[in-house]
Amino acid sequence: MTIPTRFAALMLGAAFCLSLTLNARAQPAEFPVIQTQTLEIASGQTLDLLLAQAGIGAAERQEIAFAFGAEYDLRKLRPGHELRIDMTPGGTVQQAELRVSEGVRIEISFGVDTATRVIAPEPEVLQRAASLQINTSVFVALEEAGVPSRFAVKLAEVLGGTVDFRRDLSGGETLQMMWRETRIDGESIGHFELTFAALKIDDTLFEVTWPDAASGSATLYRNGEVMRVVAQPVEGARVSSVYGRRRHPVYGDIRMHSGVDFAAARGTPVYATAPGRIRFIGRRGGYGRTVEISHGSSTMTRYAHLNAIPEGVREGQQVAAGDRIGSVGSSGTATGPNLHYEVRVNGRPTDPLSEDQNIAISRTTQSGEIAQERLVRARADLQQLMTDQSPTQRTPSES
Ligand SMILES: [Zn+2]
Repeated sequence: MTIPTRFAALMLGAAFCLSLTLNARAQPAEFPVIQTQTLEIASGQTLDLLLAQAGIGAAERQEIAFAFGAEYDLRKLRPGHELRIDMTPGGTVQQAELRVSEGVRIEISFGVDTATRVIAPEPEVLQRAASLQINTSVFVALEEAGVPSRFAVKLAEVLGGTVDFRRDLSGGETLQMMWRETRIDGESIGHFELTFAALKIDDTLFEVTWPDAASGSATLYRNGEVMRVVAQPVEGARVSSVYGRRRHPVYGDIRMHSGVDFAAARGTPVYATAPGRIRFIGRRGGYGRTVEISHGSSTMTRYAHLNAIPEGVREGQQVAAGDRIGSVGSSGTATGPNLHYEVRVNGRPTDPLSEDQNIAISRTTQSGEIAQERLVRARADLQQLMTDQSPTQRTPSES
């Protein structure tokens, strides 16, 4: 637009200077000068308010909102999103554009026909790695290195029953991590996926590989050998009640709690923790809507208080660790949405979070060969990334 702008400036003289202060985008002289306004959505503001602020009448505001609404859920508008309006001096809107999260733009052109289009930039996925020293805690070490600190939770999910982060870490341990980061237009959108971690404590090297898909199971290695495969029934959920004797939240008396409760929002996916065959789907008294999976002849896992079972999940079906078998709900006797997860061996409930149990139900999860290949590849990728990254990149600053 540089040449037409200069041209217009010469032709329009003083009039152009005035429109320039209004943030005008000049057109060649034979076209009317288009005024562009860029407005940012403030807290508590609606699109309608913003359009009114731009000086647009009620009928046209409605038309614009309708066109945007066809392409974008306007309830998702947040402070910081922007509205750009191109208007003729006569006050006719020629083009309107919403700039929402993750670089997405929704553009409407008003003419003989109204045309709407959504422009979404292609996300770019980067492999990243960091090597850091643990001095106070894993969480602090990650935070100081600019690595997403939520990775501490992912690590604890896998190493929890094996490493006591308070007792076993004496300071000075090295933690290496590799993850994927999604960027749009060169900017991180806050989407990080941990793929590999290596933690050396004294002479023991613990390594964890996470699968490509979000739902698969993580594998824990000890000194290069598969130690166990860990699939969580609910990703990243908080354990709201552990196994053992407790005061019953509904009945108030002391009862044995035969499983572990994971508090999560209704509808959160529930995954099979180990491969097996679905032996029961249906209602079971206080358990509510329940799925049960047999893992060999002696071990069974039970998933209770479910909200719904995905279509296609049936009794008799074989499932893999990490397969989706339901969603969190509060059916049966439950104070709120949570997953009651139970592991029974020969009919007797056992503590699902105990290490023996993890080993028992995951023994057959994965052929050792695939797991070994995955470890070799992860180590090589990490090595490569650490070599490629210059020292300034080694501690990422913008994530
Ligand atoms: Zn429970």
